[in-house]
Amino acid sequence: MKIIKNIPELLAHNLIEASEIAQIEAVAHEHSIAITPEIMNSIKVFDNSDPIFAQYVPQKEELETSQYEFFDPIADVAHSPLNGLVHRYKSRALLKLTNACPAYCRFCFRREMVGRENAKILSDLEIDAIIQYLKEHKEINEVIFSGGDSLAIGHLRLGKIAKAIGQIANVKILRIHSRVPIIMPQIIDNELVSALKEANLPIFMVLHINHYNEFTQNVKNAINILKQNGITLLSQSVLLRGVNDDAQILADTFNALLENGIKPYYLHHPDLARGTGHFQLNPIEGMEIFSQLRTLISGLGLPKYVLDIPGGFGKVELNNENLRQKPDGHFEIKDVNFNWHQYPNIRL
Ligand code: SF4
Repeated sequence: MKIIKNIPELLAHNLIEASEIAQIEAVAHEHSIAITPEIMNSIKVFDNSDPIFAQYVPQKEELETSQYEFFDPIADVAHSPLNGLVHRYKSRALLKLTNACPAYCRFCFRREMVGRENAKILSDLEIDAIIQYLKEHKEINEVIFSGGDSLAIGHLRLGKIAKAIGQIANVKILRIHSRVPIIMPQIIDNELVSALKEANLPIFMVLHINHYNEFTQNVKNAINILKQNGITLLSQSVLLRGVNDDAQILADTFNALLENGIKPYYLHHPDLARGTGHFQLNPIEGMEIFSQLRTLISGLGLPKYVLDIPGGFGKVELNNENLRQKPDGHFEIKDVNFNWHQYPNIRL
């Protein structure tokens, strides 16, 4: 089976109805579609009640946008001194080696920037400029490969870039945020791991997993290859209405992660990306679910529940200390520098 990328293929696999074609075409015009064979394997029910289906199959609700949604929710662009580089936090730099992913999550916070229509891998010249920047900014000790998905750019290119990064004296840690082991586990092999090891740095991989149904046998095999090669595995999940907005589902997902040797790291409150209102929860709803979760799971299995403050003010833990509700029903959220920022109540 090939990757499903267009309306006829969605129809042929019973992912959409003929009556929806016009609306899904309008969605596809805005945001790329890609659904891998592994995703198809993990869908159990072919409608939106399925937590995997809901994450990847385009929905007409994506055409609805609100005043609370943003083109660039966490202000990557404002913190991007070079193409492919985001430098938001002093000691860390984010590298976006490509703007393509093997599959496109319908809730993606970078959905305006990722996509196959304009998908490309950074050129040698762009990589050289980034390497130079990293050398000049000696305060950067950690490089993070983030989405689009760097693990899908090809072993040779990945190895070359990893090696160049490993040769920068101030860079001590390589972190990789990836969905590939979940959505395309077959490409995780010893060759790919060898390419990453060209960096000769400690490697931390943060796998994006939102639901325990994503643990297929192929995914477990890929995870084993990464573990056997000494890569430290962590996870990040996004709290999504209709997918995992339930304490027991989250507890089962985080326990499945632990059983597979992965430490749950972040539970992200969903970012306010354009056309993702149907996935959104209010921070208070999320905090209620998270407090129930505490009663169901050990401290080892509990990730940090975090929100990226719109406008690029960074991540904060969502709790009563950092969030307050205003008389008008909207919220304010406190950043790590103790400054308060507006945050909308999407239910108003
Ligand atoms: S894998 Fe990450 S970057 Fe790619 S579409 Fe999904 S959330 Fe966005």
